Amino acid sequence: MSNDKVRILVVEDEPAIAELVSYTLREAGWLPVIVSNSQDAWDEIQARMPQLILLDWMLPDQSGLRLLSRLRADRQFAALPVIMLTAKSMEEDKIAGLNNGADDYVTKPFSPRELTARINALLRRKLPEHGQATLTAGPVSLDPVSFEVSLHGARIEIGHAEFKLLKFFLAHQDRVFSRDQLLDKVWGDHVAIEERTVDVHVLRLRKALKEADNLIKTVRSVGYMLSEK
Ligand code: CA
Repeated sequence: MSNDKVRILVVEDEPAIAELVSYTLREAGWLPVIVSNSQDAWDEIQARMPQLILLDWMLPDQSGLRLLSRLRADRQFAALPVIMLTAKSMEEDKIAGLNNGADDYVTKPFSPRELTARINALLRRKLPEHGQATLTAGPVSLDPVSFEVSLHGARIEIGHAEFKLLKFFLAHQDRVFSRDQLLDKVWGDHVAIEERTVDVHVLRLRKALKEADNLIKTVRSVGYMLSEK
């Protein structure tokens, strides 16, 4: 299921650090993409938007801060989660980074554990469906790391698309989503599938959830939601 891994763009020009970060991310179950300068970072972001960026401050072509400002000024990328990586520990630099739209800040040298914790915290905050915490509603629980779904503690069989759909619903409970929004959020806007396909997967998801099928509500002429109520 490598396509479902959270893609993290690492913009870092020091090979040893890039390697350590890459190893740390892979160990945590994420998919690192490494680039070593601002231009390559910008090209990569345009080609395939990552879920999160780890951005070094001092880069050979342009500062990480400049790239950050450029991202934040672009509507498409304004909300991308960004953690600045830097050797600078001066208070004013920290403030400059945060003022320019960094979501968090990790000072080198950092431990792999600290980095993983910061990424997890940011993903939980900004993209709850990409976190690693177990998601639950009523008798249903979903483990994003092992890709297992259980009902009353017993593992159930669930298809790939239904798993993604359930994960998204669990991360955004009590909110109604249109078919179009679900296509966009769950399948990605580059995928050409029809809105009716969403209905098919919702049907299959309900079937997989057995007696907990009533968690998935149809909201007439709007779409679907997951709610325990
Ligand atoms: Ca650097």
